[in-house]
Amino acid sequence: MALKIRVYPDAVLRRRAQPVTQITDELRKFADALVETMVLAKGYGLAAPQVGVLQRIIAMDVEQDFYVLINPEILWASDERIIGIEGCLSIPGVEAEVERPCQIRVRALNLDGQEIVLERDDLVARVLQHEIDHLNGILFIDHLSQAKRLTLLKEYERLKKAPKKSKAKVSL
Ligand code: ZN
Repeated sequence: MALKIRVYPDAVLRRRAQPVTQITDELRKFADALVETMVLAKGYGLAAPQVGVLQRIIAMDVEQDFYVLINPEILWASDERIIGIEGCLSIPGVEAEVERPCQIRVRALNLDGQEIVLERDDLVARVLQHEIDHLNGILFIDHLSQAKRLTLLKEYERLKKAPKKSKAKVSL
């Protein structure tokens, strides 16, 4: 069952998500719904707070596979940084260049409760960072200069009144 994606400026997007303490059947059902919602919305990733659930769970559709990560933590990020285009399912219709570390290492639990470590670069590293930001109430627009953020939000408000004009291709 697809869930409703919360959009900016919904206050839930600014709250910090709580760690998952137990992986239950209910949580697995929620994870399925999170993945389904992401796929229907054609996003590369979706974090639980984006559907109003303040728990540290993210879904990703990358590398021809779906990942659900529980309590993901960034263990290491490269000093080398790279600029890439980002959009967000919670700020639909707009996108911007965001600079982030090229490569990161993330530790998380999978849905079986096993610890996994992912080391990724390029788009997957970007999706991971973007989704983990969501768990901390951070949005991609927070990484922009104030001038760029204001321009982007003005465009977003304009598009909200004429929603068919969206041209963003990279939604995370
Ligand atoms: Zn997002």
